[in-house]
Amino acid sequence: MLIFVKKDTPEAAIRSLVIQLSRQGIGTARADSAGRTMLTLVGETWTLDEQRLLALPYVAEVKRLTPVWRLASRQTHPEDTVVSVGDAQIGKGFCLMAGPCAVESALQMQGVARAVKAAGGLVLRGGAYKPRTSPYAFQGFGAPALELLAQTRREVGLPTVSEITDAAQLPQFEQVDMLQVGARNMQNYELLRALGQQSKPVLLKRAVGATVEELLQSAEYILAGGNPNVVLCERGVRSFSKTSRAALDVSAIPVLKRMTHLPVIVDPSHAAGEAALVPPLALAAVAAGADGLLIEVHDRPAAALSDAAQSLSCTAFAELAEKIKKVREAIEA
Ligand code: PEP
Ligand code: MN
Repeated sequence: MLIFVKKDTPEAAIRSLVIQLSRQGIGTARADSAGRTMLTLVGETWTLDEQRLLALPYVAEVKRLTPVWRLASRQTHPEDTVVSVGDAQIGKGFCLMAGPCAVESALQMQGVARAVKAAGGLVLRGGAYKPRTSPYAFQGFGAPALELLAQTRREVGLPTVSEITDAAQLPQFEQVDMLQVGARNMQNYELLRALGQQSKPVLLKRAVGATVEELLQSAEYILAGGNPNVVLCERGVRSFSKTSRAALDVSAIPVLKRMTHLPVIVDPSHAAGEAALVPPLALAAVAAGADGLLIEVHDRPAAALSDAAQSLSCTAFAELAEKIKKVREAIEA
């Protein structure tokens, strides 16, 4: 971090700032030129509050050299992180993850899981706790749904991901391989902190109104707690357009890949809101360098209890999986 001190600041004020910083364990190297002073700070600068420094009357400018999301940053960790979810590896090759929005029945799960596996899917999704916008909408079947998901996992042999909405649910997720934090909970810092203190991988979705910097700081909560297994998920942000449920931020994929070593996957289903839009968005995400996709698939989309309109049929998913392979071959050629 660099601090630029205003011109003609009294020497005593600069000295007192240096002492104050050293009390906080921050070392300083000082450079003076033409009546101006610049301090280069070394140490745990991510613990410093930029706003508080800027509020000092003689501080002209503060410039961070290491981002506050230092553990998530590629600057401090240049190699790609690979997150293992059962036998699947996210961040190495391509990871197709799919399944219904919500776990509804054994029959549904059997049908969808087999279709997902046959099409090359490596991780099965299925929601048990559904944080819905309306309190009157279907909220998921909770613990019994997690039992069904675990049963399908055993029978079909795919690792699973499911959304957790409260740390108190953790014991119920013992048989779940990856914990999803939904867009609505991206800034539930107590939940993020709790997930940092356990070892299951976390799929962290970007909130509809969050910047990529805010997403990275949410990831940092989990990393700082000691859990290095975080996968980021772009799922569309809110825009003025009403033609799709959300606007898929395709540019966030290469931007995040540059900023962080964490794998970046895309959920085209919640961005699309409509099954017909899912394949083109999915293919765009693959072409833009996503490490994987999370897609909603249902054996009978029209009967789905949640997100029916955007759920792909098993046949449509199989067709999309073929196209994904072709796009991957084309970009890898
Ligand atoms: C979901 O994955 O079913 C879901 C609710 O997604 P999001 O949190 O992105 O809205
Ligand atoms: Mn959904």
